Amino acid sequence: MAQDAGSTGHGEWSPAARVRGLGTSVFTEMTELARRTGAVNLGQGVPELDAPGPLLRDVADTVLAGGNQYPPAHGFPALREAVAAHQARRYGLAYEPQREVLVTTGATEALAATLLALCDPGDEVIAFDPCYDAYPAGARFAGARLVPVPLAEDGEGEAGGAGGAGFVLDEDALRAAVTGRTRVLLLNTPHNPTGKVFTAAELAVIARLCEEHDLTVVTDEVYEHLVYDDAVHRTIAALPGMRERTLTISSAGKTFNVTGWKVGWVCGPAHLVAAVAAAKQFLTYASGTPYQEALARALGGVEAWAVELRGTLRRNRDLLSAGLARAGLRPHRADAGYFVQADIRAWGHADGVRFCRELPSRAGVVAIPTSAFQMRPDAPSYLVRFSFCKREKSVLEAVEKLVNAV
Ligand code: PMP
Ligand code: GLN
Repeated sequence: MAQDAGSTGHGEWSPAARVRGLGTSVFTEMTELARRTGAVNLGQGVPELDAPGPLLRDVADTVLAGGNQYPPAHGFPALREAVAAHQARRYGLAYEPQREVLVTTGATEALAATLLALCDPGDEVIAFDPCYDAYPAGARFAGARLVPVPLAEDGEGEAGGAGGAGFVLDEDALRAAVTGRTRVLLLNTPHNPTGKVFTAAELAVIARLCEEHDLTVVTDEVYEHLVYDDAVHRTIAALPGMRERTLTISSAGKTFNVTGWKVGWVCGPAHLVAAVAAAKQFLTYASGTPYQEALARALGGVEAWAVELRGTLRRNRDLLSAGLARAGLRPHRADAGYFVQADIRAWGHADGVRFCRELPSRAGVVAIPTSAFQMRPDAPSYLVRFSFCKREKSVLEAVEKLVNAV
């Protein structure tokens, strides 16, 4: 972790309260650990898989043709049109590209700008726990408080394979979390780190509650194309009455294996998108000209590409889950996304942070403790997240090492 305190030569220095104690993100720490130890990195969700060749060539051509200056602050019109067409085609939702779609510097900037735009100091943001680490940080930057609502485990992780326990909505816990200060419900489906896909019934419960309490929904759907087997991704914005109170965030990073490009977007009703744009223009103004231009051309063909990608990821998930089970690290069910969570207690461990710090020397593998995504002090600490957005060779090598380390 980074040190907060330092000295300027004029006495003790400490950073502003909004960053105090944030330290170094667990992804940075664990990726550095993998680099130092040479361990197989199943920690950070950074793909080893290839992006579509034509998309890469298109970016190169665009750069060489001079597409290197600022894009429009709200994003290139062609990309906003492609995003609107994507939402219409996949979810039956009509967005006006000029006023209801905003291009951002990844989903991360979209989340930060959205929370800055929607929350006043003292407001509360509900999120399901565990949750992506940018959510509490974003809420804090806005002066708001993130209120964690635990997802309930539905059973034990399974010794035998991929079909183990998953996570379900706890409606009572959700209702109990709403107060007079709640402004936003922050949803993430498909979900990082659990691999959960919220069901139609769960989304209906959340939608009803948000209508009852007049909450704005922010839904992070960066894994929208990466669902496996019978799981179906649904967007809450498509439920009756929800389009007008929902901002939907997604990104090209996961869908096209281009996480370093940082092209994301927000869709929603014009008044909400205008507020997000007001914050976004003073965070980065705009970014990613060649990527935006090429993605505008690629997004129309995303479905065909995603079929292939899902096949690769599903095979990797199955290899990883079966391998974790063989190694005695009970895997949870992962219906979507990049990650499988495993229960480490059979290895005599209860503390995921210690386990992950020791795993490179014990087994030559890097993983991420789920506690990095948990906001509640009483949350269980025995879950660890392994990512499978890697070459099959890396997954097999990691599994082999884990099995041999038992
Ligand atoms: N949301 C979730 C749930 C994520 O897992 C990630 C990780 N990439 C992001 C947002 C950030 O997306 P981007 O890289 O587009 O900023
Ligand atoms: N979303 C990825 C993960 O959960 C990477 C996040 C990051 O590096 N900030 O691992």
